[in-house]
Amino acid sequence: MKKLLEIKDLKVNFHTYLGEVQAVRGVSFHVNQGEIVALVGESGCGKSVTAKSIMKLLPTAFSHYKSGEILYHSMDLLKVQEKEMETIRGNEISMIFQDPMTSLNPTSKIGEQIIEGLMKHKKVSKSEAYRKAKELLELVGIPQPEKRMNQYPHEFSGGMRQRVVIAMALVCEPQLIIADEPTTALDVTIQAQILKLIKDLQFKLNTSVILITHDLGVVAEICDRVVVMYAGEVVESGKVEEIFANPSHPYTKGLMKSVPRLDMSRNESLYSIVGSPPNLLHPPNGCAFYSRCEYAMKVCQKHSPNLMEINTTQQTACWLYHPMANPVEKESMGGM
Ligand code: SF4
Repeated sequence: MKKLLEIKDLKVNFHTYLGEVQAVRGVSFHVNQGEIVALVGESGCGKSVTAKSIMKLLPTAFSHYKSGEILYHSMDLLKVQEKEMETIRGNEISMIFQDPMTSLNPTSKIGEQIIEGLMKHKKVSKSEAYRKAKELLELVGIPQPEKRMNQYPHEFSGGMRQRVVIAMALVCEPQLIIADEPTTALDVTIQAQILKLIKDLQFKLNTSVILITHDLGVVAEICDRVVVMYAGEVVESGKVEEIFANPSHPYTKGLMKSVPRLDMSRNESLYSIVGSPPNLLHPPNGCAFYSRCEYAMKVCQKHSPNLMEINTTQQTACWLYHPMANPVEKESMGGM
């Protein structure tokens, strides 16, 4: 499969009055043409900062790309001037945010907002833009699109608003869509419809998608590959079926165990990973998961593990998978 996007050793810092927060600490992963890649991890792990870095949407006043490359069709987006980035955003790479209300202008009719985007990026006539806007609303499943185009965002339900935002993201037929928790603000039935819509559109248009979520159910439903992030780093990546059937990193295993199961008894308490992530103002020298890991070894405290290959498609950043790791510790992983 052809790589569409490749992030290499991305490091992003934020300047705060307390010091430098190392929000993203050497993240590397890729997205192939036409695949859906999930970026998962708990709040503050760097998923959204990574996604906004791809769009170069981080506030320049207090964020800083310390190093790395974001290669889109082999062009390093970190080196692209803002003027050129303005044409890439929307045209080639689009973003869907969590709350549709923040992406829509409450004072402008839905149709006008889609038409404006089309005329700005595609240089089409107003009548052509109107026809295309109507088509897009139909594509994302909005009934009576002509009538709906004349309505304001507050006249739409949450799910319908998110469909409009998806239609706006598709305006210029982008090659990559970054969806940042697109269903978090919606109830479960609408969430299922929106996920199906994203999957159908990705299939129809062969668009690549980066789906940012902390919901493993969402990942299982529509994604091809998973990148697990913790404390600003990638700790595991692999195909969805591999990560669900055979998670390797203790953090990924903990995430899997935290998902409620249908066969749980009423009195059984839900598993949670003890402790909290490290302060990224002063990240630890060793493995960032050390203080929460029940398999921690001496080496983990002092040295941070790099991603190691488990097989050709799955990688993990954990000393337990180093070829020289103690076989007793490796064996104990089976008991998790
Ligand atoms: Fe746990 Fe050590 Fe693996 Fe980190 S490197 S996850 S501390 S076993």
